[in-house]
Amino acid sequence: MNLADARSALRDARRVAVLTGAGISAESGIPTFRDAQQGLWARFKPEDLASPDAYFRDPALVWEWYAGRYRDVMAAQPNAGHDLLARLERQKEGGYFLATQNVDGLHARAGSEKLVELHGNLTTARCDVCSQVDDLPAPADFTPPPVCPRCGGRMRPNIVWFGEFLPEQALEAASDAFAAADVALIIGTSGMVYPAAGLAFETLERGGTVIEINPDETELTPRLSFSLRETASRGLAALMEG
Ligand code: NAD
Ligand code: ZN
Repeated sequence: MNLADARSALRDARRVAVLTGAGISAESGIPTFRDAQQGLWARFKPEDLASPDAYFRDPALVWEWYAGRYRDVMAAQPNAGHDLLARLERQKEGGYFLATQNVDGLHARAGSEKLVELHGNLTTARCDVCSQVDDLPAPADFTPPPVCPRCGGRMRPNIVWFGEFLPEQALEAASDAFAAADVALIIGTSGMVYPAAGLAFETLERGGTVIEINPDETELTPRLSFSLRETASRGLAALMEG
């Protein structure tokens, strides 16, 4: 398959499913996970901050880290890649589904509606006691930890941490959408972690086309229909415009 084939496959597809990872937000200035471990935080491994153990041991430290990432995300803007996916959703009317591994909320801010956030969202917190989910206050007004508006309990970041399960309904919805897709797009994800690989294979096994957009080769590349070695915004523009 070449670029022209990939473009017509996407244009003609009645059902499109998309999976995005940290790479689509790189152009908004949000670092990928490993790149985020700089400066003060360089001495911590992600597992030492983004895990139930870390939160049990030192909730203030974990919240300090997430509060910083929350400030960065709120200061960032969606980029052309997020915008093009919101446009693709409008073009495909009902036949569109987006699953993201990102926790930055940028897809929703760009106008994507049929969206599941498989790893949670940095801009919300969840009560340790009663599981109530609530938006964080604006960064300027936020002093962690947030307190539950319903029961007064301490709230944790609403993120799926290392060692935790993905939200079952969201994963099922994604799996159904990828199984039904004529075309799936895998954008800005290294593909090493579940569920990226699993979703791509749902589509391939049922005869659908899977197109990757990533400047680098990934674990998935050899198995997919076509790979565009571009950034997310340039790759989407090449598939959708012109
Ligand atoms: P990853 O860091 O493992 O991989 C990022 C991928 O993006 C790489 O394959 C890289 O080649 C590619 N990439 C880099 N720049 C790109 C660009 N401009 N356009 C397209 N692709 C580009 O990310 P992952 O696969 O999403 O897994 C990391 C985990 O960390 C995720 O589960 C996510 O929850 C979390 N995370 C989220 C954010 C965010 O919300 N923005 C940021 C960092 C980490
Ligand atoms: Zn509560």
